[in-house]
Amino acid sequence: DARSRDDLRCPIVVIMGHVDTGKTKLLDKIRKTNVQDNEAGGITQQIGATYFEKKTLETQTARLNETEKVELTVPGMLVIDTPGHESFTNLRSRGSSLCDVAILVVDLMHGLEQQTIESLTMLRKRGVPFVVALNKVDRCYAWKTCKDSPIRDALKEQEEGTISEFRSRSTNAKVQLQEQGVNSNLYWEMGDEDWTNSDFIPLVPTSAITGEGVQDILLLLCQIAQRKIWKQLMWCANLQCTVLEVKAIDGLGMTVDILVVNGYLREGDKAVFCTLDGPVVTEIRGLLTPPPSREMRVKADYIHHKEVKGALGVKVIGNNLEKVMAGTSVLVVGPNDEEEDIKAEVMSDLTNLEDKLSTDKQGVLVQASTLGALEALLQFLRVETKPPIPVSAIGIGTIHKRDVTKISIMNEKGHPEYATILAFDVGVEREAREHAQEMNVRIMTADIIYHLFDQFTRFMGELTE
Ligand code: GDP
Ligand code: MG
Repeated sequence: DARSRDDLRCPIVVIMGHVDTGKTKLLDKIRKTNVQDNEAGGITQQIGATYFEKKTLETQTARLNETEKVELTVPGMLVIDTPGHESFTNLRSRGSSLCDVAILVVDLMHGLEQQTIESLTMLRKRGVPFVVALNKVDRCYAWKTCKDSPIRDALKEQEEGTISEFRSRSTNAKVQLQEQGVNSNLYWEMGDEDWTNSDFIPLVPTSAITGEGVQDILLLLCQIAQRKIWKQLMWCANLQCTVLEVKAIDGLGMTVDILVVNGYLREGDKAVFCTLDGPVVTEIRGLLTPPPSREMRVKADYIHHKEVKGALGVKVIGNNLEKVMAGTSVLVVGPNDEEEDIKAEVMSDLTNLEDKLSTDKQGVLVQASTLGALEALLQFLRVETKPPIPVSAIGIGTIHKRDVTKISIMNEKGHPEYATILAFDVGVEREAREHAQEMNVRIMTADIIYHLFDQFTRFMGELTE
């Protein structure tokens, strides 16, 4: 095993939090600070992710690092930016979490919200270290903009009234986190002992609009990577990768976007994917990424690779990829491997969940974006919901007409209330919607688990009235 502290892969970072807290804006800001400097290099757009070279991280944090003096040893950073990636934190790649570290975004003006708490629970359950961004700090009364500057420099420029509002709001967030069993502190007020305490969460005030605190977030993420999770970041030749998304692309057919965490993936590899109908073995015909620092418009713009090395995001072309499930692992059959063993290993993501994925005779259809999200949703509906909501069928990905047909059977079985699809973070085809109308099937959609539950219980309440 050639793993060493001198050969770290880049940490995979995910941004989570309640809707409207500024996740997208913050991601944009992190990506564009560089572009504004008109320095095109150093950031490359990948499939579902943005890669920051080490030298970019160094430039980005230079001002803050004049005082912090952190030596960067990570080779860069991979920030996941797949739409709807909030639910990807729940992805699992053979037992471990897909992301190495997370930014949990809280709106400083609102404090903790429902989905913040959901994300918090998920991150802690998976043991993913994270920082909390107290975003929208610029909304504090009479805030003086200090564009892109380290947060402490910006705070020094503020009047007393602004500081006191900031203090009271951040203390409030701290208390709310404490109520969730989380110890936290403004990160510069953390002692060395807090760093070694795995349950201690650093708070970073940020503005995703004017950029205060963005340097701090980047440097803090690097520090967490280097001080807390470097062991997990030691690059390893064993292939480890996870499906991010499955989608049809004009001219390419069905493609699978994957995140290669460790190891190499090569054109011509015999890859094994997991589907609800069993393993799919297919030859990798193409490995694509977008061109450097350019928005991808036409397919000719993709760069073809013979080989890619983790960690990175890449689009895979091959046959029979239609039913591949987001959130499952991908493996390659090597020269010394038995294909059957590899198939079994790929399917273990599913078989390990068999109990949880087993279905009731009568119940609703539950459809989610990824296997991890499906698992979380089923756990919620069956274990945490009182009384439990029975589930007769499950699925991953967009809702098609055939899904509507499948669950409409509940009308004939004398359980019209279960002729319902609970759809978490997935799209619904127009045909499916029309069909649902005809067949008396309800489709409830949400991207927050609790909202689905609320909709369904409200509906059940109306029935019994
Ligand atoms: P998301 O739903 O978490 O991705 O939130 P968005 O990034 O879409 O932001 C939601 C709204 O908040 C938008 O109107 C943003 O312009 C605004 N917003 C986000 N971050 C900030 C911030 O730091 N300061 C201010 N004043 N507004 C922000
Ligand atoms: Mg967003």
